[in-house]
Amino acid sequence: MAIAAQAPAHIRAISPYQPGKPIDELAREMGLDPAGIIKLASNENPLGMSAAARAAAAAALAEVPRYPDGNGYVLKQALCRHYGVALDQVVLGNGSNDVLELVARAFLAPGCSAVYAQHAFAVYPLATQAMGAQGIEVAARDYAHDLAAMRAAIRPDTRVLWIANPNNPTGTFHKGADIEALIDSVPPDVVVVLDEAYTEYLAPAQRYDCLSWIARHPNLLVCRTFSKAYGLAGLRVGFGLGSAELIDLLNRVRQPFNVSGVALAAAAAALDDRDFVDRSYAANRAGMGQLEAGFAALGLRWIASAGNFIAVEVGDAAAINRRLLAAGVIVRPIAGYGMPRHLRVSIGLPGENARLLEALGAALGAAT
Ligand SMILES: *Cc1c(COP(=O)(O)O)cnc(C)c1O
Repeated sequence: MAIAAQAPAHIRAISPYQPGKPIDELAREMGLDPAGIIKLASNENPLGMSAAARAAAAAALAEVPRYPDGNGYVLKQALCRHYGVALDQVVLGNGSNDVLELVARAFLAPGCSAVYAQHAFAVYPLATQAMGAQGIEVAARDYAHDLAAMRAAIRPDTRVLWIANPNNPTGTFHKGADIEALIDSVPPDVVVVLDEAYTEYLAPAQRYDCLSWIARHPNLLVCRTFSKAYGLAGLRVGFGLGSAELIDLLNRVRQPFNVSGVALAAAAAALDDRDFVDRSYAANRAGMGQLEAGFAALGLRWIASAGNFIAVEVGDAAAINRRLLAAGVIVRPIAGYGMPRHLRVSIGLPGENARLLEALGAALGAAT
């Protein structure tokens, strides 16, 4: 019998996560010069990484022969100072995806369910299904989470509620008061994951203090990442903040050395480089404006985004994407998210945004 048939049915039913196409892969496939390709497909930071983080990572290379600090003390201390939480309220992950998986591993099993929104981040259904739990997808409203419907979808067997704010790939955002009201209404035996991978990109008026909710909600886990505004996607480091009780459970299912020493050192330095985060924020605002103006000029509609990316409606997105790839422009098709008419474009540097708009205009012209 085929070895694949030996895996449980819920594992065999998983469709793999589709990452953004790497530059080198497109260069090989199309015979293009990698230097001429632009990638606006994985919501990476176009400014690169903070110089302080780079220096800390380089210095940490000397420690590579040793296992890293499995407790991540230095980074956790930095996070505690930054966010005003206690050491036992922090769990570190190999990217925040790792933290999301820890939640699934700790709380989900066959016979229970998890609730998430239509068009929500793909890792929620994947992590849910990998544990053999049932995913309950709640229809979106204008592409955004329908918070009331998500609350209503919670069943007695529901153990996890996944919320992305802002959401990826839609960029949709709910104000803090609405998220807080939802969490206040959720039964205390349901873990609420508030995934805030793009929180540093929120405008000042959009920001809200969800960490202050943890004291009265031991079931709340706030997830953040160093992959986006901090520019450390390739190092894989993220974290979760919650009650000591919840964090303790997540640490039990965590691999002891899940974050490398280089990543720990770089992340701690990045956290202190506020100037880099401020510049990332400003560059993102400017790039968002540039893309919105360009889309408007092309007669396209888009979904207003609070992140560092924007979903634009282009019609036959698969065909447009093929033309963009041939022109050396990598963006993200999101048909797998139930959005076959949209492409998700990460905000780039001004020159990259201009090149995307030009290639998009040409691709749309060829389509008509
Ligand atoms: C990018 C992203 C993450 C973070 O991924 P990492 O594993 O930290 O690189 C988490 N949630 C959402 C919604 C994201 O878009």
